[in-house]
Amino acid sequence: MDIKNGFEDTVGNTPMIRLTKLSEATGCEILGKAEFMNPGGSVKDRAALWIIRDAEARGLLKPGGTVVEGTAGNTGIGIAHICNARGYDCVIYMPDNQSQEKVDILRTLGAEVRLVKTVPYKDPMNYQKQAGRYAAELAGAVWANQFDNVANRLAHVESTGPEIWAQTDGHVDAFTCSVGTGGTLAGVSRYLKEKNPKIEIVLADPPGSALFNWVKTGEAVMSPGPSLTEGIGNSRVTDNLADSPIDDAVQVSDQETLSMVYDLLRADGWFFGSSTGVNVAAAVRVAQRLGPGHTIVTILCDGGGKYQSRLFNREWLAGRGLDPDAPFPM
Ligand code: PMP
Repeated sequence: MDIKNGFEDTVGNTPMIRLTKLSEATGCEILGKAEFMNPGGSVKDRAALWIIRDAEARGLLKPGGTVVEGTAGNTGIGIAHICNARGYDCVIYMPDNQSQEKVDILRTLGAEVRLVKTVPYKDPMNYQKQAGRYAAELAGAVWANQFDNVANRLAHVESTGPEIWAQTDGHVDAFTCSVGTGGTLAGVSRYLKEKNPKIEIVLADPPGSALFNWVKTGEAVMSPGPSLTEGIGNSRVTDNLADSPIDDAVQVSDQETLSMVYDLLRADGWFFGSSTGVNVAAAVRVAQRLGPGHTIVTILCDGGGKYQSRLFNREWLAGRGLDPDAPFPM
């Protein structure tokens, strides 16, 4: 018998998928970790589960307690599912520039969503800071603090990294990944570098983020934005990201992201969100640089269903000068 014991037991152990057309085109193995197949629909289910388990283990979260988080969506979705499964309340602070689909899903899952004005991190009214303050005031509440709580990264040190290593039998030349909190990239990189320091770790960055410059020059200087991507890019180096082994960075334009997402849909039948487009585009660039015969692993973060109103809305794209019919420039 092979039976999963409820929601939490279904988090992780996702398939590793060969992206066939891109592998053939580059002569490399372009492999994607199918994080969109987690039960809450994204890579962030792992972070949500590890953060909640960590708060319980520390005695901070008790039956009937509340989990508060500032999130652009997917972490909140993971947390909301797990709160239901474990009997906690869930309060989510979210910037008001995110897709309506994510707000609707969170409310359907039973989370209390507080939409707040989109302001920079340094502003005290930033959504993350508001979440932290609210949790500090409310009895029995914990702040998940996904950006700086390294239980997030640990999820990927303990699960995603080992799964990638086992699924490829250790045959990995490079790993590409975009960064929101940095939990995924930093956790996987820490694990893979322990196993084989020669595995190249490449940060994939959208416009409007400081991380490409940070990797290239050591200074977190913002690149021009904004970006159509959601959930990735950052103006600062989080505790999850700090001191993690990263070898290089690739910047992926919104047009390249869009072309990759639509190519994967048209040519391979996949329906992914924009961060997956960034990750796969970076994997292709690394494959082209390394040349045929290499294996590049990346993360297929979530599906496209939450992004109908923007990424899959031709009118919205046209208004931004973006063309979904332009193929990815190989
Ligand atoms: N892709 C999507 C769709 C996300 O929601 C997030 C998290 N905000 C990421 C990628 C980035 O993952 P991490 O927080 O582990 O850097």
